[in-house]
Amino acid sequence: MSVLDRAAMDPVQEVDDQVIVKLVRLAAMAILGIGGVIAVLLLTENPIKWIQFWLHVAVALTALVGLVLSLRGHDRWAASVIIWGSWVIVSAVTASNGGVRGPNLLNYPVLIVFSGWILGTRPTQWLVALTGLVFMGLVWADGRGWFPPADYGNKMAYAAYLAGILVLTSGLTLMSRNSYLRKIALARTVAADLRARENELHKLYLAVEQSPDSILITDLASRIEYVNQAFLRNSGYTQQQIVGRKAGVLGSTQTPQATYDAMWAALADGKSWSGEYQSLRQDGSEFTASATMAPLRQADGTITHYVAVSRDITAQREAEARIHQLSFYDSLTGLPNRTLLLQWLAQALTRSQQVGQQSALLLLNVDRFKTLNDARGSAVGDALLVKLGSRLQVLLRPGDVLARVAADEFALLLHDLSTDSAAASHQALEMAHQIQSSLDRPFGLPQGEEVAVTASVGITLFPLAAQEEADEVLRRAHNALHRAKLEGGHRNAFFDARMGESAQQRFLIERELQQAIGGGQLQLYLQPQFDGARQVVGAEVLVRWNHPQRGLIGPGAFIPVAEESELIVRLGSWVLEQSCMLMAHETVSGHPLRLSVNLSSRQFRDAGFVDWVKDLLRRTGADPTQLTLEVTESLLINNMDEVIAAMGQLSALGIHFSIDDFGTGYSSLAYLKRLPIDEIKIDKSFVQDAPVDTDDAALVETILSVARHMHLKVVAEGVETQAQADFLARQSREVIYQGYLFGKPEPAEVWLGRWRSLP
Ligand code: C2E
Ligand code: CA
Ligand code: CA
Repeated sequence: MSVLDRAAMDPVQEVDDQVIVKLVRLAAMAILGIGGVIAVLLLTENPIKWIQFWLHVAVALTALVGLVLSLRGHDRWAASVIIWGSWVIVSAVTASNGGVRGPNLLNYPVLIVFSGWILGTRPTQWLVALTGLVFMGLVWADGRGWFPPADYGNKMAYAAYLAGILVLTSGLTLMSRNSYLRKIALARTVAADLRARENELHKLYLAVEQSPDSILITDLASRIEYVNQAFLRNSGYTQQQIVGRKAGVLGSTQTPQATYDAMWAALADGKSWSGEYQSLRQDGSEFTASATMAPLRQADGTITHYVAVSRDITAQREAEARIHQLSFYDSLTGLPNRTLLLQWLAQALTRSQQVGQQSALLLLNVDRFKTLNDARGSAVGDALLVKLGSRLQVLLRPGDVLARVAADEFALLLHDLSTDSAAASHQALEMAHQIQSSLDRPFGLPQGEEVAVTASVGITLFPLAAQEEADEVLRRAHNALHRAKLEGGHRNAFFDARMGESAQQRFLIERELQQAIGGGQLQLYLQPQFDGARQVVGAEVLVRWNHPQRGLIGPGAFIPVAEESELIVRLGSWVLEQSCMLMAHETVSGHPLRLSVNLSSRQFRDAGFVDWVKDLLRRTGADPTQLTLEVTESLLINNMDEVIAAMGQLSALGIHFSIDDFGTGYSSLAYLKRLPIDEIKIDKSFVQDAPVDTDDAALVETILSVARHMHLKVVAEGVETQAQADFLARQSREVIYQGYLFGKPEPAEVWLGRWRSLP
């Protein structure tokens, strides 16, 4: 019996109990009254029939016991005592007074009815059976003539008896009928109630069953107990296939483990979980479901099931993706459109401002695209644009963005080029050149057609000012593009023309330097270094470029450009190789010479550098102990440990290391201790100002004292005047001098010619 049924039965049970109480008490009082009244009346007779008297007293007492029991709450016991007690006494009275012809037979039906209502079927059957036996006995005894004629005795007593029987029978019957009707009415309302409840439940069931959302109920071990129609429709399973299986069969490996973890954590916590995951259909296909899972609690709070309500949102997600695609991407080329470019540009602006890097926006427009479109049809034009898009895409570095901003206009967003705007514009220009040369090859179009086009490119760097807006940057690039077009197309233009020129210059340098390195245009210069006694102790190697058209170019004009690419590695290798050859030659010819060679940090970061140097020393026969490599503090910014290891290996060969331009960089003396350094070169700016500027004087003093403390050699660069030399001499006797006062850089052959002629 379910909880609901039991609850519905309760009112009927209650009615039953109340009726029994009333019936028992009514019967008890009636019998008590009848028995008592008759007993009293019997006393008035002459002679007194004692047996009759006592039997009626016994009946009254039985009824009294029953009444007391009922008042104490033992109604069934009371009823049994009254019924069975009365029955025994009535049988005795009947046997003693007339048998079947006696006046007391009426008692039996009353007791049987009473028993039927109160004690129920089984005791009543017994009562009827025993009464039958008694009747048979009485008839049999009567046949033998055992009974004296019945004595109806005291008229009053008999009248009281009949009246009592009447009251009892009618009372019992009416009350019983009443209670029966009430029970029926109650049962009806309960039934109606139940029906209403069932309707309600059925409605709920239909709602669940026909819900457009998939609903699934599992037990605590996630075994599926119920799925609704929507679930079956969407998953392709049948009821038989899925009920009883673990819900895990529905999960896809595409769902991140973290999603499952979060879901189970919530359920284990007795909480509900909402989210999205990938789910599997019966045929193995996948769909995106948006779901809410919740524990199902019984009335007492225990969790017995889990319920999952989910919806297939694949179509919605696809529609969103399509809308996104349509609003942010160009349908012809599939590239980001102007809207998305502006968004990314805004992000790039914020980022560039934060990290202090310069980025560039290049705007490319196909020259005379309209003519092409008109002449060969828009299908050809479209095909060209698609091909052009993919060609440009190849040129991008990872993270850079290509967008199509107008019919024949593409934008390239180059992120974080350099902190230095000259270097950044150089890189941007380089990209523009790459774009231009990628257009040298004609485009092969469907139907075997070939189309050659040129393009104009407008370039701007950003950010140029704080708080710049994305469309400002785009407008600048447009201006630049417009200029490129005005100048006849097929060219690149910078928004800032000067920037363009210097970038163009750098680009030119880079291209020409490529040839210069292998083409014998580079030349070694030497600048001597002197000790306090004006003895030459070595020379620094400084490179010059003997340009066929522009003449001699100082390293300031090309080293920084070379530093931006691997060119510096080629250049530096050439210089070091030449220097080693020089040293070996001088040693052999009896004029051993210590040379200091400048080293770029890019060379050092080259993985094979140490091995290359070892090989170089072997090949040239140069004495490593005569070689000093000048490095700058910038070398130490990245990969300090690797740099230290490489320096350690080289210094183990006897090579000396010098920190160039000391004082201009990070100037932390702390790192010196970790490095195998032999020498520091005080930057010329301090040396030159030391005699007149007390700050610089103090700095030079400090450097000298620290160097002395750490047993480092000190070279003072850029000594131009006697005052500077004197200042240094006052500070230290060990300082080495390098500068115009002692000797300018000269072509290596010239300087060495003098060197060899020294005594
Ligand atoms: P640096 O290593 O600091 O070289 C010293 C520079 O100061 C040289 O300029 C030299 O000519 C100049 N100098 C020497 N004495 C004086 C003086 O009394 N007064 C003044 N005003 N200047 C003096 P240079 O030759 O133009 O070289 C410039 C820079 O180019 C060098 O600075 C060095 O950083 C770089 N460099 C030169 N050759 C090479 C090379 O072969 N490899 C690498 N990586 N860098 C090189
Ligand atoms: Ca140097
Ligand atoms: Ca220097």
